[in-house]
Amino acid sequence: MPTNMNPFTNAKKQLDLVVPLLLSEYSDPKKFKKAISILKKPQNLFKKRLTIKLDNGRQKSFWAIRSQHNDARGPFKGGIRFHKNVTEDEVKALSFWMSVKCAVAGIPYGGGKGGIIVDPKKLSQNELQKLSKSYAQFLATHIGPRIDIPAPDVNTNGQIMAWMLEAYEKKMKTQAPGAFTGKPLELGGSLGREEATGQGGLFVLLAYLKATKKKVGGTTVAVQGFGNVGYWFARLATDVGMKVVGVSDSTGGVVNMKGLDIVKINEEKEKFGSLKEVSLMTKAKFISNEDLLKLNVDVLAPSALENAISDQNAKDIQALAILELANGPVTPEADGILESRKIDVIPDVLANAGGVTVSYFEWVQNLQGYYWDKKTVNNKLKPIITDAFNDIDDVVKTKNITYRKAAFFLAIKRIIDAMILRGRV
Ligand code: NAD
Repeated sequence: MPTNMNPFTNAKKQLDLVVPLLLSEYSDPKKFKKAISILKKPQNLFKKRLTIKLDNGRQKSFWAIRSQHNDARGPFKGGIRFHKNVTEDEVKALSFWMSVKCAVAGIPYGGGKGGIIVDPKKLSQNELQKLSKSYAQFLATHIGPRIDIPAPDVNTNGQIMAWMLEAYEKKMKTQAPGAFTGKPLELGGSLGREEATGQGGLFVLLAYLKATKKKVGGTTVAVQGFGNVGYWFARLATDVGMKVVGVSDSTGGVVNMKGLDIVKINEEKEKFGSLKEVSLMTKAKFISNEDLLKLNVDVLAPSALENAISDQNAKDIQALAILELANGPVTPEADGILESRKIDVIPDVLANAGGVTVSYFEWVQNLQGYYWDKKTVNNKLKPIITDAFNDIDDVVKTKNITYRKAAFFLAIKRIIDAMILRGRV
């Protein structure tokens, strides 16, 4: 499978990989096969060219997409990406993976995803606001707290959700904070959302160490990507006694096999601009991104972009386990190589599910109109994520398959069971 493959083709291949395992679970193979064919397409796909007036008075159009993959387990849920490389197939694949992720976490949602083909850095705040509001107006009758709940993704944030909420509520003549998650706190966002993905990743890792009878204290960790997810994961991992020995951003990273002070490094990064600058200004030992991935550590946590570990470097990985905090950091070919080398890969659909789980908490709080403190959020996150890990670990052990296959097996089974109960097949 070449690395640059179409993501939707890739997603369908991942689905096909668990079909033989699932077949024996169903007494009616016809119904099962029908369900699989339904899962190979989104239930709904919306596309439109959105036109806005630029600050210079000219008009400009942008392609906007929303893919609603499957809502058998609950309303569609998934982010909106603003990127020049967004494609229909990428959005379709991401919506499929959201169906899988929500089923893995056991939260009552299906999968959705949206995108606009735009380079947001080329727009002013005023233009960005117009485009965001135009997107929400276009989709207003197809989204909502009981239909489809968008959230931020690449290049979108709380401010963009606030603009979209305003446009949605105006068009639908309602107040409905549960129509979007990832909102600013002032508009009904949840405490604990900022660190949720890193925190969830740590809960997964703690459950994995327990299941594999490894100790927490002194576990060595390398983290590729020092943004929201990587920073919070690294910081919280050191808080429980793990030793984070390497962190990197797009410029490279810093390494110290005795352990790094993550809070201090973050302060220095804010001061100097990048981790490469931190290494130059503070005389910390520099490490390239390539070498960071090859560090001799217990756990490697790719937390940046997709395809970081491919057939090119999978043979050089020395970590005992990989925790996929980014979406899609290990390519399918690398997965095979790592499996043959007995390196466990804890898949993204489980490892980074803390983010969508706290988005779910935000929605629950919005529907109740009653808001929780941060401790309550974290106390509710831990059992959901730990149970998700334990359910998958049981499948790994009983079927002797990888964590990724087990996660897909369990998730697809949960979705198909819901489809059968509803009489959709
Ligand atoms: P971010 O933009 O805050 O951080 C990304 C980091 O990766 C930055 O430090 C950047 O410098 C670094 N980076 C970029 N290219 C790199 C490279 N080649 N090598 C090393 N580092 C590189 O993004 P984020 O929100 O932390 O998201 C990171 C990943 O986690 C993405 O794959 C995202 O889809 C996934 N994810 C995020 C969330 C969330 O809640 N933020 C939830 C689920 C999944």
